[in-house]
Amino acid sequence: MNYSNKQGKSNLPEERDYKQEFLKGEKPFLMCSDCGSVYFDKHWHHKIDDFKNIDKENNFQMKFKLCPACEMIKNKQYEGRVTIKNVSKELEQELGRLITSFCRTAFKIDPLDRLINIKKGDANWEVTTTENQLANKLARKIKEVFNKIDVEHSFASDPSGVVEVTVEFK
Ligand SMILES: [Zn+2]
Repeated sequence: MNYSNKQGKSNLPEERDYKQEFLKGEKPFLMCSDCGSVYFDKHWHHKIDDFKNIDKENNFQMKFKLCPACEMIKNKQYEGRVTIKNVSKELEQELGRLITSFCRTAFKIDPLDRLINIKKGDANWEVTTTENQLANKLARKIKEVFNKIDVEHSFASDPSGVVEVTVEFK
């Protein structure tokens, strides 16, 4: 198990607070065996830097389990899907970058918010996410960024909680 922090050191103070919260939590603790996210205070949090050390210091009992996001990805499921129609060659690069950076930011805030896949067809793309609201926010963001181009944004949600959003470049 590798506990190293791949996301850099920019969010250290936050991690330290989490650690204090974590130490107060109930035992045994849950950790995702895939991404290393930890569950406490009724939420999944990003993995804690130098977790190995606090593990030793506090003699933790740790239980491993997949977090909901990893579980969903493993089962090839998704909660949000954005269909983007009429993607022109000129916009491809900018659009791709926008999608990945927007989802990366969402992930930094909540480890369960993930971009699963961008399927790029000739003119139509299909973007899947682990959270339905992430798909909706992403569609809004695309509309906002490309607002000089006429973009239509339609929204549908089915009873299973899956959100389908369509963004169409006109
Ligand atoms: Zn996970």
